[in-house]
Amino acid sequence: MSEQDTKTKETFLRKVQKTLPESSATDLSLISRAYDFAKSAHEGQMRASGTAYFEDHCLHVADHIIDLGMDTPLICAALLHDTIEDTKTTAKDLQKEFGLEITRLVEGVSKLGKIKYHGNERHVESLRKFFVSVAQDARVVILKLADRWHNLETLQYLPIEKQQRIALESIMIHAPLASRMGMGKLVSTINDLSFPYAYPDEYKKTKKIMDGMISNADVSIQKMHRSLSADLHNTLHYLPQIDERIKGTYSLYKKLVRKKWNTESIYDLVAIRAIVNNVSECYQALGAIHSHWRPVPGRVKDYIAVPKPNGYQSLHTAVFSGDGPIVEIQIRTQAMHDYNEYGIASHHSYKNNRVQKGSDKESFAWIEQLRELQKTNLTTNDYLTQLKTDFFQDRIFVFTPKGDVIDLPAGATILDFAYAVHGKIGEHAGGGRINGKFMALKTPLVSEQIVEIVTNPKARPSDKWLEMCITSSALTSIRRQLKKQRQTI
Ligand code: MN
Repeated sequence: MSEQDTKTKETFLRKVQKTLPESSATDLSLISRAYDFAKSAHEGQMRASGTAYFEDHCLHVADHIIDLGMDTPLICAALLHDTIEDTKTTAKDLQKEFGLEITRLVEGVSKLGKIKYHGNERHVESLRKFFVSVAQDARVVILKLADRWHNLETLQYLPIEKQQRIALESIMIHAPLASRMGMGKLVSTINDLSFPYAYPDEYKKTKKIMDGMISNADVSIQKMHRSLSADLHNTLHYLPQIDERIKGTYSLYKKLVRKKWNTESIYDLVAIRAIVNNVSECYQALGAIHSHWRPVPGRVKDYIAVPKPNGYQSLHTAVFSGDGPIVEIQIRTQAMHDYNEYGIASHHSYKNNRVQKGSDKESFAWIEQLRELQKTNLTTNDYLTQLKTDFFQDRIFVFTPKGDVIDLPAGATILDFAYAVHGKIGEHAGGGRINGKFMALKTPLVSEQIVEIVTNPKARPSDKWLEMCITSSALTSIRRQLKKQRQTI
């Protein structure tokens, strides 16, 4: 190792220790071994930017994983995440070296590499479900999102067509998944990095409007910030943390579209956010704010009493600032704030007993916590259930040769697949190639196979076909086509 290499590694390990002070010597030595293993596996490999693959990608992904507060197995998996896909390393090698848990994480993320969005809106939901079903473990989704996050940060080095495909894919697939897991910060990061590449004209238009609105609001926001500090200090007898959050460009764009580009009806471009000590102070603060500034009717939202489906909690109000524009104020506790930003990846949500009280939580075993979380009666249950593979046990996800995902019930055959792709393709299906090998129409499919339908102009539905498929859409089409045949005879 060169002097520079040693330094880079030391800096990384110091960051681990600083961010996760509870990590043991065993953790650190495991992370150190994963670091060395991945570095040597990627030796000589370059990124599109012309820099070293390990240092300029894998290491950044691991950094993001640490920033998200994840634990040792996931940090190791992040360092190793491209070894199966891009180097000679096999799953067997990894298992020998790092055990089953880390290997499964890397394997999961490698499988997700297959997902590609080809602009087919119809398949977006299938793609998202496929993503979750393959992941099997929510940590794999988080790892894939961190990987995508860094790829988006370095998108400028890729050819233009690739930039747009990846950006669109991220907005359609990755950001909604992050949202479902309550990882608000990651949602806006992914969307805002993608937006300029996905929709360049809309981005320019939005950015211009945004800059104008911000400079207009600036003075009154500063004024309000100051008097809010004084008010809350008076009410709570300490100065809570107050800051401004600016809405992301993509989120503003979506809102502008909803409001027909009427900027007057957008109050939350810049919102003031106060973080207080506990729930009762949230309501005290709200009272203090309303006794000073007149609230806009219908704009008070209590997401503490009624959290959003992904677990988001906060009080929102919009008030008339007097001489300036209407300003949105958000009030929440630190635990809520961490949860809103990091969702199920949030350390704090566990430590500050939002979901768990007084259990043995010294060792941070993430998946254990997930199970605990599932036992509780929070609305977060909804999306955590979505993340369980069981949920998808009755579904299979099969690829077209182009990489589109077709979502079918378990037991579906090549013929079902043909009809799911297109009625015309179904009608003239002669057979199919599963991973390149020709098979009969009645062959049942298994998740992750790549299926190509071989059409034959002479092929046509017969009564036998009704026994070769199980989906109602295929059966209905076949019956209709059979009826038509009889009429023409
Ligand atoms: Mn990667």
